[in-house]
Amino acid sequence: MYFFTLASSSSGNCALACAGQTKLLIDAGLSATRLEKALRAVGERPESLTAILLTHEHIDHVNGVARLAFKYGLPVYATPKTWASLPGAVEAVPDYLQKDYSYDLCLGDFQLDFCKTSHDAVQPVGLVLQAEGRRLAYITDTGCVTRGMLAALSKPLDGLVLESNHDRQMLSRGPYPYVLKRRVSGEQGHLANEQAAQLLDWYLERNGLCRIMLAHLSETNNTPELAYAAAATVLENRVAADEATQWLSVAPAQGQSVVWQF
Ligand SMILES: [Zn+2]
Ligand SMILES: [Zn+2]
Repeated sequence: MYFFTLASSSSGNCALACAGQTKLLIDAGLSATRLEKALRAVGERPESLTAILLTHEHIDHVNGVARLAFKYGLPVYATPKTWASLPGAVEAVPDYLQKDYSYDLCLGDFQLDFCKTSHDAVQPVGLVLQAEGRRLAYITDTGCVTRGMLAALSKPLDGLVLESNHDRQMLSRGPYPYVLKRRVSGEQGHLANEQAAQLLDWYLERNGLCRIMLAHLSETNNTPELAYAAAATVLENRVAADEATQWLSVAPAQGQSVVWQF
């Protein structure tokens, strides 16, 4: 299995997970043209994708989905309520390509599981992908750690992509209006660096090391250095400081992240 992100921030989210002949695009939050370019730039052909998986209906996750699905005939998977509430542009995903998530869904070489996240979307989910004996969790856009997330993280993973959205001080002192600050830091907003680090600590204590990628960083209320430092603090309790970089990375807002190969 290999995995990387192509974009990860409030301006757009997209990742690719591949195993055998199966290639799954996770979220399609850039325009279709940018997504095609981003895929080709890393040697992937949009026409070789198997399906698109959506985590929720916000525009930074669905922006290019309709055009991409239509152009390449790609099935798009989302929760049933997500389909009912997608923004206008996305309703154009043809009916025959709209698929509902179901438990123990198999897509080619992948088996998929889901966990509820806590976010101001109708039915948001985190994803757990299994293939070739490997297990990867992709969890962003959640204001708190849910029971479903703990269940997903209670078993060992090979890779964990976890939101580390904002630094609390930067958010509270930053330029966002009060209402937006409350939304971001609320139970249905986004995970702070501190919350992500606490969850990582919980996971590492229970299951030992796995590769960790911090994702969906705010470009206004966070820096890659702050997010990394918060997570490195818990990681460095378990590995030497110079080894931390082998386990921990930050998904860039734009462009390809490190590539995980399991
Ligand atoms: Zn988002
Ligand atoms: Zn969102």
